[in-house]
Amino acid sequence: MKTKEMINHNPSSQAAFGRAVVIGSGIAGLTVARVLTDYFAQVTIIERDRRPDTPEIRRGAPQARHAHTLPVRGQTLLEKQFPGLTAELVANGAVAIKGGSEIAFFVAGEWHQVRQHGAIVSITCSRPLLEHVLYQRLLVHPKIRVIQEHGVTGLNVDRKGRKVTGVRLRGRAGLFPSLTNLPADLVVDASGRDSQTPHWLADLGYSPPQETTVNAFAGYASRLYRRPADADPSWKTLYIRPTPTSSTRGGVIIPIEGDRWHVTLIGMGADYPPTSEDGFLAFARSLPTLQLYKAIAAAEPLTEPCGYRQTQNRMRHYERLPRYLEGLLVCGDAAYTLNPVYTQGMTAAVTASLALDHTLNGHSSQHRPGDLTGLTAAFQKQLSRAMADLWQTATDQDRRWPMVEVNEQVDLAHRQRQQLVAHIAQASPQRRERTISNTGLAIGYS
Ligand SMILES: Cc1cc2nc3c(=O)[nH]c(=O)nc-3n(C[C@H](O)[C@H](O)[C@H](O)COP(=O)(O)OP(=O)(O)OC[C@H]3O[C@@H](n4cnc5c(N)ncnc54)[C@H](O)[C@@H]3O)c2cc1C
Repeated sequence: MKTKEMINHNPSSQAAFGRAVVIGSGIAGLTVARVLTDYFAQVTIIERDRRPDTPEIRRGAPQARHAHTLPVRGQTLLEKQFPGLTAELVANGAVAIKGGSEIAFFVAGEWHQVRQHGAIVSITCSRPLLEHVLYQRLLVHPKIRVIQEHGVTGLNVDRKGRKVTGVRLRGRAGLFPSLTNLPADLVVDASGRDSQTPHWLADLGYSPPQETTVNAFAGYASRLYRRPADADPSWKTLYIRPTPTSSTRGGVIIPIEGDRWHVTLIGMGADYPPTSEDGFLAFARSLPTLQLYKAIAAAEPLTEPCGYRQTQNRMRHYERLPRYLEGLLVCGDAAYTLNPVYTQGMTAAVTASLALDHTLNGHSSQHRPGDLTGLTAAFQKQLSRAMADLWQTATDQDRRWPMVEVNEQVDLAHRQRQQLVAHIAQASPQRRERTISNTGLAIGYS
């Protein structure tokens, strides 16, 4: 397939800018890199891991061991950026799901019907498959190059310390020892939740961002199973959602490529699901409905259960830094991490790439070619606006758990606004249940 068919790049766009570097090749890094190819002459992705040739779990993205659902909104946005993506995923074993008839959704003690709008069919697959297909498509783009097995260890700046001029790299032991500096006009940090940008800014004399965290102490335990040939034909995806007033426990079964089930158990409020063989099954049996337990009890496990507990929502307030280092942008989990229970992280990553497109489009029409002055502040503010509803949805839900821990480093006016929003949300739990489902689809009460 030719590049133009695999990536929806803008053929009329001239490269207004020179060299861009993207740190990290997760969903945020890949989608941002795609957008940058419309504006920059060269885009280099730097990835600490060795990128596998086939869809595999990487050390740098351990969350891939847990079921990843891509809501319809995220899928639609990705499809626009990478036309034909859905069909390619299905050709590689991803499963097409019809909302109304094939998703069983249990919330607040009842089964609910998931309404699907239009002809959209949602797709389930492993996160490694999704990432692999995106990566392979980008690789063939003539402006993209990838430096793998190199970690970015710091930023280089101009003599006045106002502008980024590149990144410092360290290769894995014995690899390309001479490659230590890479010049760049723009650096985008998409390195995930362990991003070092706050430290890099502080080292350069800039204020690091303030943080807001909302922690409902969610925990995951996940395992792969072979999908049984005689599986219940009444659903393809099963979702049992923890609900503040009735149950801290939930779980999901999604079908993925290779005729497998990805099974994830969820416990809120530090009611963490165990990762022992017996504990995993016992937790499944304790869910408010037995459907998930019955499905896996007779199925063949393919992996050991594994756990994950770093699930707090965290917003780094890059949108209101007192002073910006020009040419440095931060997006994806590096800026906003969302409780994975609400399955919005990959959609948030794609949303960031759209915010970048919007900002670069406006910026290039108002500045002479090559001039990136002001882009950093404009992007971080645009990203903050674009992320507002995803952040609000996840944190409103989490604030309903009794043991939620909220830490806001924000000014008083902002805090008061948030308290008001939380108060309104608390007053109307039924309404919020209707507006979000973990599949990203509207739930109808039948
Ligand atoms: C348990 C769990 C379940 C989840 N389930 C869902 C779900 O169902 N649906 C959903 O949409 N989202 C889900 N998410 C969220 C989702 O995984 C992320 O939000 C999304 O992938 C965006 O991540 P990212 O690209 O910003 O970061 P990452 O995916 O973490 O990628 C960061 C990349 O940067 C690389 N890197 C890090 N530091 C450096 C460095 N210094 N130099 C070079 N490279 C570096 C890493 O190796 C990695 O490849 C889940 C998250 C967790 C933790």
